[in-house]
Amino acid sequence: MSREKQGKKWEKNDYLIFCFEIQDLFVTIFLIFVTFYGGMNMGDCIFCKIIKGEILSKKVYEDKDIFAFEDINPQAPVHVLIVPKKHIEKSLDATGQDKELIGSIFMAANKLAKEKGIAESGFRLVVNCNRDSGQEVFHIHFHLLGGRKMKWPPG
Ligand code: 5GP
Ligand code: ZN
Repeated sequence: MSREKQGKKWEKNDYLIFCFEIQDLFVTIFLIFVTFYGGMNMGDCIFCKIIKGEILSKKVYEDKDIFAFEDINPQAPVHVLIVPKKHIEKSLDATGQDKELIGSIFMAANKLAKEKGIAESGFRLVVNCNRDSGQEVFHIHFHLLGGRKMKWPPG
């Protein structure tokens, strides 16, 4: 129904229709927000799905806060990804509350390096953050790489 009633007073029906239209608008904005915000977060996160067991992985370590598994496309004889179970998109998003969590990832890396026999020969613990680093998966993760001689500077 058109509301071009220039000069005319609004009737009760017009107010009702107007209210419904405003309500529709808010519902639409809410749905757009949920779709985009949810899409960028845990809902679609590969690593959250791996942690929950919804995507298969070769698990090498797990405790209440951390999950570690073999990288699907290894760049060295040993290539493990160590991730917190908490969904943090990137290292820039870690806060003071995550200090202990990040520290425990280092401890898990040391333990895994020893188990994998690369502690003495040497290894790299790499965290990519944002575009220039080549970060592809936006759930913070530590690459534990070893078992071959590595170059510096990195590519
Ligand atoms: P980034 O480039 O984000 O630092 O590293 C992402 C890493 O995750 C890559 O080394 C890639 O091979 C690995 N990766 C991506 N998808 C999967 C997957 O579904 N399973 C496993 N195990 N590794 C994955
Ligand atoms: Zn995640």
